[in-house]
Amino acid sequence: MRLAVVGGGVAGLAGARAALVAARDAGMPLRITLIESAERFGGKVWTETGGETPIDWGPDSFLAAKPWARELAEELGLGGELVAPGPAARRAYLLLGGRLRPLPPGLAMGIPAGAPALLGAVREGIIGPASALRSLLEPLMPGERREDPTVAEVCRRRLGRRVADRLVAPLVSGVFGVAPEELSFRTALPMLAGARSLVLAMARAPRSGGPIFLTLRPGLGALVDALVAALEGEDLRLECAAEGLARDGDGWRVATTSGEVRADALLIAAPAFAAARLLEGAAPECARALAGIRYRPSVVLHLQYDAGALARPLDGSGYLVAGEEGGVVSACSWVGTKWPHLATDSPRIRAIATSPEAFGLSDDVLRERAAGEVSRVMRARRGPEEVRLVRWPEAMPVYAPGHAARVAAAERALPAGVALAGAAYAGVGVPDCVRTGQEAARRLVARFALTPRFRTRGEGP
Ligand SMILES: Cc1cc2nc3c(=O)[nH]c(=O)nc-3n(C[C@H](O)[C@H](O)[C@H](O)COP(=O)(O)OP(=O)(O)OC[C@H]3O[C@@H](n4cnc5c(N)ncnc54)[C@H](O)[C@@H]3O)c2cc1C
Repeated sequence: MRLAVVGGGVAGLAGARAALVAARDAGMPLRITLIESAERFGGKVWTETGGETPIDWGPDSFLAAKPWARELAEELGLGGELVAPGPAARRAYLLLGGRLRPLPPGLAMGIPAGAPALLGAVREGIIGPASALRSLLEPLMPGERREDPTVAEVCRRRLGRRVADRLVAPLVSGVFGVAPEELSFRTALPMLAGARSLVLAMARAPRSGGPIFLTLRPGLGALVDALVAALEGEDLRLECAAEGLARDGDGWRVATTSGEVRADALLIAAPAFAAARLLEGAAPECARALAGIRYRPSVVLHLQYDAGALARPLDGSGYLVAGEEGGVVSACSWVGTKWPHLATDSPRIRAIATSPEAFGLSDDVLRERAAGEVSRVMRARRGPEEVRLVRWPEAMPVYAPGHAARVAAAERALPAGVALAGAAYAGVGVPDCVRTGQEAARRLVARFALTPRFRTRGEGP
């Protein structure tokens, strides 16, 4: 069987490796061509090495509760490199009214799991007592009837505007890089979709007691490197963009910027807009559904201060910024406290700007504005020594209302022998990208492993 994988982000790489393993287990010869348009593998996962410490310019960690990224790291021999955040990182802050206020324990995605979390938020001046009481009464409200409301609609209606805007919105925007007004509640928070009460569902949610996030000591790029190493001997192409698809007997011809690739099956793990362009001719209905998935930009900034420049102690993982604060920065991580293995004498702050307005600013203005905002909050005696930034024009797919139906329509209209994977479909985080890549690859291999001619012959016609 010949498998072409389009897109060498974590979804495509994890998918390619899963296909190799599944084919080996099925006793079916497999040849993979992996087509990646950029000059490096990894997509959004990108660790810069060579400095004092590695810098992750995309994701810096992944959720531990979703096991697929951790398990993959372990299978690839990186188990010893998995690191949990430092103990002080349990504390996080909210910037509200120009002041950092500790976020109370007992919040999940900003949703309070009961009275202690709400009382904590009142004590810190994040919400008033009336707002806390309103949220406490949420379990008495009737369940959601609307077909596919946004996160903002559900949370404002059920928890009240203050809790929705000051607690839920900063956390949800931090994860999805998109405002809750744009996000489908069901798709973004599927674990709450059928719940009668958000507060009760959060109160009953199992707690592992372990770390919420994990990273890899050398940076998440180590996962990419290990996946590429596991694919040694396969045809891995960089700076090679897939441009079109056509039927080739029972298989496919992929037109790329460096020639044609022929394959029996295709795993498309490029972003939805790129998948849509590829499928335009071969599966127009599928392409139309995929083209409806919008993306939002992000900018990641690294601010390096000299030792002693910050008067504010770095006693937590960092802070989220309440929407009403304005400004360009939406969240900051205090790198050395969140990840003690990355601590340096001169403190580093990773800031994220997710609003389209911030993305529209020039690099110089963005650097200056972010440095001004962070320095004010951190009571800096001097400005940062260095501010570097990386732009992600299409950082995050938007799980807008109708997303699940759009994805289902795309899947239904997919031609046989073609599968989709990646952040656009069923979870934006690294673990879900790994999972969708693996599942799609295993489905394709299983389908071909049942066909006698593929079991005995590695190469197609
Ligand atoms: C700034 C930022 C911070 C994040 N933080 C976190 C975090 O802390 N934790 C977490 O779990 N997740 C985080 N995420 C989300 C997560 O990193 C991504 O959703 C995930 O890495 C996407 O993986 P993917 O393989 O689906 O897509 P991508 O990484 O986008 O890979 C797709 C690949 O396809 C290639 N491609 C596109 N078009 C073509 C074509 N025509 N032909 C060939 N190749 C093509 C692209 O070059 C790219 O390499 C973050 C994302 C960003 C941007």
